[in-house]
Amino acid sequence: MSKILTGIQSTGTPHLGNILGAIVPAIKMANESNDESFLFIANMHSLTQIKDEKILNENTFATAATWLAFNLDPHKTCFFRQSDVPEVTELAWYLSCFFSYQRLKLAHSFKDKSQNLKEVNSGLFYYPMLMSADILLYDADIVPVGKDQLQHLEITRDVAIKFNKTMGETFVIPEANIQKNSNYIIGTDGQKMSKSKGNTIDVFLDDNKLRKQIMKIKTNTLSVDEPKNPDDCNVFKLYKLIAGNDDIKVLRKKYEDGGMGYGEAKEILFQEILKRFSDNRKAFFELHQNKEYVEKLLIEGSIKAREISQKVLKRVRTRLGF
Ligand code: ATP
Ligand code: MG
Repeated sequence: MSKILTGIQSTGTPHLGNILGAIVPAIKMANESNDESFLFIANMHSLTQIKDEKILNENTFATAATWLAFNLDPHKTCFFRQSDVPEVTELAWYLSCFFSYQRLKLAHSFKDKSQNLKEVNSGLFYYPMLMSADILLYDADIVPVGKDQLQHLEITRDVAIKFNKTMGETFVIPEANIQKNSNYIIGTDGQKMSKSKGNTIDVFLDDNKLRKQIMKIKTNTLSVDEPKNPDDCNVFKLYKLIAGNDDIKVLRKKYEDGGMGYGEAKEILFQEILKRFSDNRKAFFELHQNKEYVEKLLIEGSIKAREISQKVLKRVRTRLGF
């Protein structure tokens, strides 16, 4: 049996792209597999960007509530918050003493992120060490990653190998499981949906705000009467991801026949989003009314996580002579 570990960023409430691109497939995999899975909210990583107690807390809660609203089973998956397992920062320090500064300077994501910042904090630079600790602390052997995280996983493997070579066998060397599906979900401007681009569709907004986002989707300017090509319309592209096959056929025909304006198409998409995510939206709002329940689940998760992390850290400390 393998141990699969996934970290999730908590820089805001997950949007449609995060949900369809990452959350739904990950939950499906966890629920269907017999492997042991770990899922943690990487709230300590978000400290590199966010310095506000309230926002940090809200983001963590919204992230946890989203996963739960999409039916993550917290009894099957060890679901916890990074900051509830303090062993991780201790391990990150030890690892950093086994990894070269020059190599860390070459990390792509650090170069990309630091270019656009006025002040580059050292946490941003040190990030791959904390990420390595996130993984090695649980003896994880499989880490599902997008292509952009592959280099960080290489760093994790290299630091673990170096430690093992220097101090004796200590860590399990994790393997990346590269997510093949590189198709991204488009945002309201037709580009990749991304928090940082302000083009998101946020399925947990109230109806009015959600409708406004959908009305913002960029389209052509053909008149109502003209037949339209559904395949180059952003509204239809999004509809295809959400609706069932029969409904997709019906909407396709409406485009091709003419007589439907873009406003109407957007309204159809909006209604479909409400329908498709109705249970999830309800669950999300209910969790907001019951924050103590989410808190309890996360604490229970961290107790399970710490049973492992404390053992692994003890092994490391013994190796180090501490
Ligand atoms: P940022 O703009 O800060 O990079 P983001 O909106 O791109 O934020 P991330 O936190 O980078 O979101 O991504 C979280 C997860 O969601 C990752 O697994 C990522 O691959 C997936 N994801 C993000 N955007 C999309 C998208 N448009 N389509 C499919 N998957 C996505
Ligand atoms: Mg991103």
